Amino acid sequence: MSLAVDTPEVVPALDIRRWLIGLTREEIAAALAEIGVPARSVRMRANQLWHWIYYRGARSFADMTNISKGVRADLDTHFHLARGTVVEGLVSSDRTRKWVMSFGPNQDIETVLIPEEDRGALCVSSQVGCTLNCRFCHTGTQPWVKNLSAGEIVAQVLHARDDIGEWPSPKEGRLISNIVLMGMGEPLYNYDNVAKALRIVMDQEGIAISKRRITLSTSGVVPEIARVGEDLGVGLAISLHAVRDDLRDELVPLNRKYPIKDLLNACRHFPSSSNARRITFEYVMLKDVNDSPADARELVRLLQGIPAKVNLIPFNAWPGAPYECSTNAAIAAFAEIVNNAGYSSPVRTPRGRDIMAACGQLKSASVKQRASAVR
Ligand code: SAH
Ligand code: SF4
Repeated sequence: MSLAVDTPEVVPALDIRRWLIGLTREEIAAALAEIGVPARSVRMRANQLWHWIYYRGARSFADMTNISKGVRADLDTHFHLARGTVVEGLVSSDRTRKWVMSFGPNQDIETVLIPEEDRGALCVSSQVGCTLNCRFCHTGTQPWVKNLSAGEIVAQVLHARDDIGEWPSPKEGRLISNIVLMGMGEPLYNYDNVAKALRIVMDQEGIAISKRRITLSTSGVVPEIARVGEDLGVGLAISLHAVRDDLRDELVPLNRKYPIKDLLNACRHFPSSSNARRITFEYVMLKDVNDSPADARELVRLLQGIPAKVNLIPFNAWPGAPYECSTNAAIAAFAEIVNNAGYSSPVRTPRGRDIMAACGQLKSASVKQRASAVR
């Protein structure tokens, strides 16, 4: 059973004021200077705003009580702090939450919170739709609409925190303790905005989620992999899903451009890879397609020399999907081979399937409607 939660916050679509979410401190300072804030106080004001927006979660300038009324009014004339329009909020029977957020016509994305006992991961989208067409992925059946801006990525985190009331930014006991870039889209085809958003999220004086608690998942955009480690220092997950090029070409068509050998080479040279920070290899379990013991043994062979862990993902079905999920026995046998070779290989428990929030089920309704209208 799923429940709808009533959280919509509708933002004036035609707000002509500048959106402050997603700007760096320097950009906020420059925006303040542009509206006539005196040069001597620009830095101080930018820091104040940063604290209110990202540490306290202020949604309006009126809340910023240590700023004088006149300045607050001025800020409100020129800027806004909206989170986007929340079209829908759903709660699964397993407490997974999904928010459908819109950033314009046909620009819906989905954000999912997967709560555990004492922590939780927020699964954030990086694009509306995806340019890639992985055959088992629902998002891949949706046309790419646009790259999300840094503000649109950060707004997903802000809204999730608003909804669960996690302000001011707590140091411990967070329900949103981790961020995974595993929502809609390929984050490495929107690197600059993703990087900018992550720097905001990691900033110690704001949301302050550490790089050790952030994981970026890619289907294998080889040339961009190194800087995930070098520039951002966040964890890397690779959507591998097949151990032979002929099959991976079919499942993850990007493999035709960047085959398995090149992908694993990039992983071998991944800057922050160490036993403390292993690379996660995601492997979706597709019945009679990629789930044999021989596949498991080949996976172990391929991963040799890479500090790795394997995440086995039972395939999550969606309407019209051309695959079925492997049997429990096949998944267990696969996991055992990988485990016995010394790699941790947890089977990911599907979460939020009843609200179509599980891995690979995300696809936004507005575009679906448009696609059917076209048909
Ligand atoms: N585009 C990036 C980020 C999305 S992550 C990437 O592909 O890595 C979403 C994860 O869920 C990926 O590992 C993806 O391969 C996996 N996935 C996609 N469709 C799925 C499905 N139907 N069932 C289970 N996992 C799926
Ligand atoms: Fe895009 Fe990732 Fe889905 Fe592939 S699995 S279509 S890269 S979102």
